[in-house]
Amino acid sequence: MIRTRFAPSPTGNLHIGGLRTALYAYALARHEEGKFILRIEDTDKKREVKGGVKQIQEILKKFNLNWDEGPFIQSERVKTGIYEKAAKRLVKDGHAYEDQGAIRLKIPQNEKISYHDFVLAKEITWDTNSLTDLVILKSDGFPTYHLAVVVDDNDMGITHVLRGHDWLPSTPIHLLIYKYLELTTPKIGHLTDILDPEGGKLSKRKGSTSVEGLLKEGYLPEAILNFVMLLGWAPKDNKEFFTLDEFIKVFDSKGFQKSNPVFNREKLDWFNGQHIRKLSDENLTQKISEFYKNKFEKEKIVLIIPLIKERIKKLSEFNSIAGFFFENPKVDKKLFGKNYRDHIPKAIEGLTNNKELIDIAKENNFKVGDFFMDLRVAVTGNKVTPPFNESIEILGHEKTLERLRIALK
Ligand code: GLU
Repeated sequence: MIRTRFAPSPTGNLHIGGLRTALYAYALARHEEGKFILRIEDTDKKREVKGGVKQIQEILKKFNLNWDEGPFIQSERVKTGIYEKAAKRLVKDGHAYEDQGAIRLKIPQNEKISYHDFVLAKEITWDTNSLTDLVILKSDGFPTYHLAVVVDDNDMGITHVLRGHDWLPSTPIHLLIYKYLELTTPKIGHLTDILDPEGGKLSKRKGSTSVEGLLKEGYLPEAILNFVMLLGWAPKDNKEFFTLDEFIKVFDSKGFQKSNPVFNREKLDWFNGQHIRKLSDENLTQKISEFYKNKFEKEKIVLIIPLIKERIKKLSEFNSIAGFFFENPKVDKKLFGKNYRDHIPKAIEGLTNNKELIDIAKENNFKVGDFFMDLRVAVTGNKVTPPFNESIEILGHEKTLERLRIALK
């Protein structure tokens, strides 16, 4: 049975690359009814961020990446003596030595060490002369990443290790430890780096690639996931739209891509729009309401949804597209056409007598397009808006008239 794990360090916000690792590890296990394990690698206490462990769990839950076992917390496992025991055995067998209270792995000379990467689909080999002895157990009894990862992957029965490309240089060390402890090496795969469209690797410094940040910008978890699914993996048929369950069904290691994917915002926006349109009106209403912390009345949002659902790409656009329904807009007079001082009074007069706008335009020989544009600007503050007639129906007769009057002042 497949057993995979996600093993983040609680060092701050989860980034898009971390979410991808978690998603792929999760789907690899789920695809074959295996198990997905969450392990927190917190043996480097200096780098830990307060609340980091809780934050990771909350994010994974938001994305429905639910784990079957764990979270196993490495700092708590130290007490069991499992890491110390492994380190001592390495010392006893001559593969490690004590150094100022710490234990260092002894790297052999002139050996080749290799493994087959199941993501990159190739054999990777190192010459041990390119490696240096390094600490595996610190003097305070805490293991370093290299020892902890091997001991735990073995102890937890992990069959497939999936991780970011950054970790590739650590792999030969792990391979040596597996060998010296006479453990079975799991299958290991390193995911390609995600690139920034501006060039180089996607990095935290270059803007919002944190998952929390994307949620705050109004992207839906299911859309972010769908976008991430295809950052390094592709189905046979080039299908793009996937729910998590659909993805699990088709996901396998044959689809891993060898070239580095690019983080493309327009693509993410496109996915978000697609997923928004899949939501029921009630569901979308609920999400918008939550996104804006109940600032807008739900009864009204639900009426507006049919007018905007086809064009909204992010929840955060709701205010700019539909904010005028809730409060009088600031109208920039420069947006009016040259005849607005004719158009608006006639509209007020006609509407007061319950005439249809189109009839008012005809009776006065107004150019229909210009007439409607001036009304649109007066009522919404914008030239591009949801369909106008439907909008003023939701807004109501009195509010519409009030805004037309204000615009003339
Ligand atoms: N703790 C490492 C991280 O934060 C995990 C590396 C691995 O999966 O082996 O990404």
